[in-house]
Amino acid sequence: MKGYAMLKIGETGWIEKDRPKCGPRDAIVRPTALAPCTSDVHTVWEGALGDRHNMILGHEAVGIIDEVGSEVQDFKPGDEVLVPAITPDWDTEACQRGFPSQTGGACGGWKYSNFKDGVFGEFFHVNMADNNLAILPEGMSREAGVMIVDMLSTGFMGAENAAIELGATVAVLGIGAVGLSAIAGARLEGAGRIFAVGTRPISVEVAKKYGATDIVSYKNGDTAEQILEATGGAGVDAVIVAGGGPEILLDAFKMAKAGSKIANINYFGKGQGDKDTVPIPRIDWGFGMADKDLITGLCPGGKTRMERLADLVTYGRVDPTLMVTHTFKGFDKIEEALFLMKEKPRDLIKPVVLLE
Ligand code: NAD
Ligand code: ZN
Repeated sequence: MKGYAMLKIGETGWIEKDRPKCGPRDAIVRPTALAPCTSDVHTVWEGALGDRHNMILGHEAVGIIDEVGSEVQDFKPGDEVLVPAITPDWDTEACQRGFPSQTGGACGGWKYSNFKDGVFGEFFHVNMADNNLAILPEGMSREAGVMIVDMLSTGFMGAENAAIELGATVAVLGIGAVGLSAIAGARLEGAGRIFAVGTRPISVEVAKKYGATDIVSYKNGDTAEQILEATGGAGVDAVIVAGGGPEILLDAFKMAKAGSKIANINYFGKGQGDKDTVPIPRIDWGFGMADKDLITGLCPGGKTRMERLADLVTYGRVDPTLMVTHTFKGFDKIEEALFLMKEKPRDLIKPVVLLE
């Protein structure tokens, strides 16, 4: 079968691979809608995970089940499913402790385009299908579905981790699809004022529709100072970091009040050494004693998560298709969509490739 792969750091291309094999609890899925992620860009062009050879890319998919293993009970060939970007092994120690995304080591629940071939193939493998798949609800578009599996799940996790209280003031730094989803999540969690920090006009428009009350451009001066000024010096109750390089944490800590949560959902992709660090500002962090908590997390996966996110879409709480700015038709367009994600033209939030 054909797949679009990372050949090595900095290089991608089409390759031929064997169709994946289906174990007793697994499923083999044929994609019907795919989306590239900024994480694919970090993986290929920044070598963020280290070198990978001939590994099929992609971890955002909706698809039709082609085959199921003998022990799979809830799904059958022909079912159209949401495939979470993160597909943990649900019988592991990390899952039992409540951290399924960290199965078998940091970010180990992230298998596609990390430890195994991703979803940009004619077929792809799903481990523990009964736990990791969810039916695409009737009436939900494939575009909406493919925005749920990573973008909504990650952005909403940011809002959940930020522990937003009713009426709290929140800042979301970075308004690509992940930050926009965080804005929608912050509104659902009950935020009062929501600062959206970003510049792309198309993103600003969607940020307002998702609930942003104030738009701040990081290109118009120091972000934290702008937000401190707008809040009369008080700062914000929660910060969700969804873009930028490691130095964005300087802004986050500076604008955060005592007692705040700084929920990082950004992937700090550059650098490969185990001595690499990210900066936390000593003074704005109260010399390590300011009650400002940095919380990290990898996109939650699994069936229940997908079903709940799907309900938010089905019952009109959020429309993820507002983030789809480019739609392509045909498997061959994956390459173009991935390069768009890399180049990030001003009119792009997220491209989707429909296969049928
Ligand atoms: P994106 O590139 O579309 O959006 C991020 C935006 O932040 C960009 O527009 C960028 O210009 C902007 N930015 C840069 N510096 C900034 C600054 N100082 N202040 C504010 N904004 C700034 O990316 P995306 O697709 O929305 O993804 C965001 C991040 O989330 C990526 O690093 C991605 O890899 C990561 N991600 C993480 C998870 C997870 O599980 N935690 C899942 C998916 C994606
Ligand atoms: Zn992703």
